[in-house]
Amino acid sequence: MKRVLITGAAGFLGSHLCDRFITEGFYVIGMDNYITGDKKNISHLFDNPNFQFVEHDVTEFVKIDGDLEYILHFASPASPIDYLKIPIQTLKVGALGTHNLLGLAKVKKARILIASTSEVYGDPLIHPQSEDYYGNVNAIGPRGVYDEAKRFQEAITMAYHRFHGLETRIVRIFNTYGPRMRLNDGRVIPAFMGQALRGEDLTVFGDGKQTRSFCYVDDQVEGIYRLLMSDYVYPINIGNPHEISIRDFAKEIIKLTGTKQNVVYKGLPIDDPMQRQPDITLAKKILNWKPKVNRDKGLKITFEYFKTLSKEELYKSEH
Ligand code: NAD
Ligand code: UDP
Repeated sequence: MKRVLITGAAGFLGSHLCDRFITEGFYVIGMDNYITGDKKNISHLFDNPNFQFVEHDVTEFVKIDGDLEYILHFASPASPIDYLKIPIQTLKVGALGTHNLLGLAKVKKARILIASTSEVYGDPLIHPQSEDYYGNVNAIGPRGVYDEAKRFQEAITMAYHRFHGLETRIVRIFNTYGPRMRLNDGRVIPAFMGQALRGEDLTVFGDGKQTRSFCYVDDQVEGIYRLLMSDYVYPINIGNPHEISIRDFAKEIIKLTGTKQNVVYKGLPIDDPMQRQPDITLAKKILNWKPKVNRDKGLKITFEYFKTLSKEELYKSEH
């Protein structure tokens, strides 16, 4: 049985990846320190003989007994309020954590895929963003801790590929959503859906003219799986190019949820990117991949998931 290590396994994307690799017949070792994740996302796997969970902070030396075919490094705070709350851990997991996992991949002769992000493009000056764009990042702004950690992560990954001949893959993930997102992680979809469920007004930051392009989790996982199995070593965008302004998106959520509440406008966070849309030409060409789930369908599934949460979870706020 082929063995895969998935870091960030108790998080949103990591837990869906664990499910996918189990379904594909792998033995999955999930690793997480629960800093932004939740045991509940993987508790359904605890009795599975092909799954093992290791509670560990990947910024500390990572040791795994036995063979490893693949490593997927997804551990990192991912939402702006998370990485603003734990900025040093964010830098450490992108830098030290990635270094540890590359070292492990080298010892095990494993192929490693690392989770990068559209944030490497910062507040982009070209639109849509293609992989050859170098980006427009404010290294010393509050978001810099995440953006620069991810840029360093890409740089060290390419260095391990070039210098050690390691088999590496880099996915640049654009805003992805779906069941198991944390309701209070501050990202716009859980934020709006939580507000709708609690009967609160929807908070649009700035004038809401900034855009995002939202990808459903199953499409994202399919893209990542195909990239891992491909022989392409350079970064590749995976996201859904269907772009919408946050203002229009709030209206879409009001319609979908049937809430009687309105939109209220709040200050725009520093360095909040004004436009974001993936150019997925490369993913189409190299991976024969494109998203299949449209926003209407994906949002309905996600809202159904949030509706199943308890009152306690709905009103729990860490912030
Ligand atoms: P998440 O917060 O739900 O999951 C991240 C997981 O990593 C959590 O379970 C957390 O506890 C774990 N983790 C963090 N630091 C750790 C450490 N030092 N050691 C061990 N575990 C640690 O976030 P997500 O949305 O699932 O994001 C997963 C990955 O994908 C991240 O690397 C993120 O940067 C990347 N990404 C996600 C998106 C998106 O839209 N969801 C977009 C771009 C990039
Ligand atoms: N946003 C918003 N209201 C919220 C949460 C987010 O208007 O309650 C905006 C945010 O300013 C950004 C967009 O929605 O312009 C997407 O934010 P998110 O945190 O989901 O992702 P990111 O900014 O990392 O793309």
